[in-house]
Amino acid sequence: MKTIQIRTSERVELIDITSTVQAYVSEKGTLNGIIIIYVPHTTCGITINEHADPDVVRDIKMQLGKLAPENAGYHHYEGNSDSHVKSSLIGASETVIISNSQLLLGTWQGIFLCDFDGPRTRNVHLKIMAD
Ligand code: ZN
Repeated sequence: MKTIQIRTSERVELIDITSTVQAYVSEKGTLNGIIIIYVPHTTCGITINEHADPDVVRDIKMQLGKLAPENAGYHHYEGNSDSHVKSSLIGASETVIISNSQLLLGTWQGIFLCDFDGPRTRNVHLKIMAD
């Protein structure tokens, strides 16, 4: 397993980590298998979506902000309930197939770390299971 650290710079930010994940697969020399990308934080998520047009990320952030606005009468004392809600909507992990040493992603797909309560330094765990 490998843990990578990502420094975010905004409160809500999606960072494309595809090349970092691919670099780990290449470094490990795994020909075929799966890789789990997992974030151990309650106000983060991992998602796979388009990384060609940056407006897709912009729209995702905009819509998540409508689904879970920052101040909406939440109860949690930390004042970051919107971040927790966004985290649960997105989910903490993704699994990607490794085929011929490459992440089996579609042409437009990228893997994103989503920080909903930044800026902070975040950990992302990468675990490969070879077959
Ligand atoms: Zn909290």
